[in-house]
Amino acid sequence: MVIIPEGEQPFIQSIDSAWYGHRVAEVAMLRLDVVHPVVSGNKWYKLKHNIQYCLDNHINTILTFGGAYSNHLVATAAAAQLYGVQSVGIVKGKYAETNLTPTLKSCIAYGMDLQFVTNEEYEKKNDGAWLQQLSEKHHQAFTIPEGGANEMGRAGAGDIAALIPERFTHIAISVGTGTTLAGVLNNLKQDATVIGFAPMKGGAYLNEEVREYVLPDKRQQYIIYDDWHFGGFGKHTEGLVAFMNEFYGHHNIPLDMVYTAKMMFGLREQIMNGLYPETAKILCVHTGGLQGNLSIKDRLVY
Ligand SMILES: *Cc1c(COP(=O)(O)O)cnc(C)c1O
Repeated sequence: MVIIPEGEQPFIQSIDSAWYGHRVAEVAMLRLDVVHPVVSGNKWYKLKHNIQYCLDNHINTILTFGGAYSNHLVATAAAAQLYGVQSVGIVKGKYAETNLTPTLKSCIAYGMDLQFVTNEEYEKKNDGAWLQQLSEKHHQAFTIPEGGANEMGRAGAGDIAALIPERFTHIAISVGTGTTLAGVLNNLKQDATVIGFAPMKGGAYLNEEVREYVLPDKRQQYIIYDDWHFGGFGKHTEGLVAFMNEFYGHHNIPLDMVYTAKMMFGLREQIMNGLYPETAKILCVHTGGLQGNLSIKDRLVY
C-alpha cells in the first residue's frame, strides 16, 4: 500500500476539561492533521486507494474536481506528484483563473494542470458522458469525484475508525461530502454516535445524501448539524478567528478556518448547552485542511 513519506503518525490529544466547563466526561482530539502538511487529515485516507489503483493499473493521469478553496484538489495535486502521477484539476468558476487563491497557486506548484470551467459546466461533474470526454482529453485519466467521494474514498476513510478507542461514545467529524463520516461510521467497532458538522448554509441536506452510503443498521447513529456555518462555506467572522487563536493558545492545536474551527465552536456550544450526557466521551477528528488558513494568516497567532 502506498504511504505518505513525510509527516507524523496520528495521535490522540486530550482537551482541557476547563475548556468545556467539565460538562462531559472527556473530550479529546484525533490529530490527523499531522500526517502531511498538505495531503493532511482525511484527504490522505480518501486518496490512498485511488492512488494505489492508478499505480497498480499503470494509469498515469488523475483528474478531479474542486472549487478555489478545495483541500481535496491540492491534496490530490500533492499526492499525485509524490507518486509520479500527472494530475488535472477541473476548477469551478472561470473567474478563479484570473484571481488565483493560495490553494490554486499550490495546486499549480504541485504540477496540477488546472482547467477552469463555468459554474454551469461544473454542475455536470457527475455526468458520465462529460467525465468520459474529460478523461479522453487528458490521457485517459482516472477520474476521482469532487471531495474524493467514491467507494475507494469511503473505504480509505474507514481506516480512520481503527484509530478510535472503544471508550468514546461520540465522534465529532466535519462534513463536506460526508465521505469521511460514512467511512468512519461504517467501520466503528463501538455503538457511538457520529456528530457531523457541515460548514455551509443549508448543509443539513447532507443527512439525506450520506444515508445511502451508511450501512442500514447504522443509519440511526449519526446526525449532521449546519448551525455553525459563519456566513457560508469558506466564510468566517472575526469571532471565529478569535476562537481559533484562543483554542491554539489553550491547546496548541491549530484549527482550520473552513472546517474544524467551525466544528469545535459548535461542539463547545452544544456541550455548554447540555446536549450531551455527563458520561459522554467525545472524540473530535481533526481532519486537517490547515493550508486553507493561508488567506487569514496575518490574523492568526500560528
Ligand atoms: C475535505 C475536508 C472535510 C470534509 O470531508 P468529507 O469527507 O468530504 O466530508 C473535513 N475537514 C477538512 C479539514 C477537510 O479538508
